Amino acid sequence: MNKVLPLLIIAALIIVNCKAQESETISVNTKSTVKPEKLPLVNNGKIKNVILMIGDGTGLAQLSSGQLNVVGKEGLLHLQTLPVTGLVKTYSADNLITDSASGATAYSCGVKTDNGMIGQLPDGKACKTLLELAEAKGLSTGLVSTSGVTHATPASFGAHVPSRSMQAEIAAQFLNTGSEVILGGGQEYFIPHGQQGSRRTDDRNIISEFEALGYEYISTAEQLGSVSSDKLLGLFSISGMPSEGRSPTLAQMSKKAIDILSKDQDGFFLMIEASQIDWGGHDNDAQYVLREVKDYDDAVKEVIDFAVEDGETLVVLTADHETGGMTMQYSESDEELTIVWTTGSHTGIPIPMMAYGPHAIEFSGWWENTEVGIKIARLLGLKDFPVIIE
Ligand code: MG
Ligand code: ZN
Repeated sequence: MNKVLPLLIIAALIIVNCKAQESETISVNTKSTVKPEKLPLVNNGKIKNVILMIGDGTGLAQLSSGQLNVVGKEGLLHLQTLPVTGLVKTYSADNLITDSASGATAYSCGVKTDNGMIGQLPDGKACKTLLELAEAKGLSTGLVSTSGVTHATPASFGAHVPSRSMQAEIAAQFLNTGSEVILGGGQEYFIPHGQQGSRRTDDRNIISEFEALGYEYISTAEQLGSVSSDKLLGLFSISGMPSEGRSPTLAQMSKKAIDILSKDQDGFFLMIEASQIDWGGHDNDAQYVLREVKDYDDAVKEVIDFAVEDGETLVVLTADHETGGMTMQYSESDEELTIVWTTGSHTGIPIPMMAYGPHAIEFSGWWENTEVGIKIARLLGLKDFPVIIE
């Protein structure tokens, strides 16, 4: 025992130490700087459309390392060309560190709730979401994500359940949203029990139920090119979409969503989530994060190209929380960067927000995540918000 105990302590110290020094070298682009023009501040005109983009788990280090890797130290990602920046406090009702359910509900409902809860207050009362209220006001709405569409972030805009794990129920509740476009992964919660890959325990085929409501259903990137309906359900993978060789990309899904929604003369509300920046953070996998930041930024380009052309679209980019406690440390050379992770979980560090379009200037400063949802509601002309169902 006398010999074993010191050995155990040494082993434990080694394990703890290894965890604390989880580091990885990534390459910095020193060959070709890309620096797109910065977008101008737009005068406070009319807002017809709002596009909210959420980079799940995206803090400053994720964005900055992405920039260094993709466009070099003097370059700019598209998401860095937006003229207004703010900082967002992310704590939830029951913890200083939020999860993606309460993090997204803060935006969708304008309320702080407990970790794990979707579109509900801690006491279980439902809150109306931006998407539901926009739909009720006659706008078109959409949800796009690279996770399963029933995953916590998109779920928080179209469902009300006490636990994010109730994804079969979330898929069914999506039928009630009236949302025109739902694109992402996650067939597993839409196909009936017994069908390969299904994670439902009942015989409901939610895809067929969407089709019965007039939706066109597609499952490949090729089909995305020949959509004729103005109500679209696209589920491109059984679970979350693959990170490598993703098809369609977040940019392609975003473009299609905008093409359909922008036909509505009354305007639209669209939430686009770059879901897997968070997953790369949980894995402490910098290459994964870089791929996902690039996929996100390509989608940002599609969005701002539309917004610049349209002139009546407010674009807000934010995150729900940071993941991984990612930071950047000294490297020997300019051509590489040392990434250090401090956790495999979420952190409580504030996250950056960027805005472009009419009234974007109002997104400057420090924010509660809930205040961002409330601000978007006001700008969409939704006067009563938050709305709690008693
Ligand atoms: Mg998410
Ligand atoms: Zn996470």
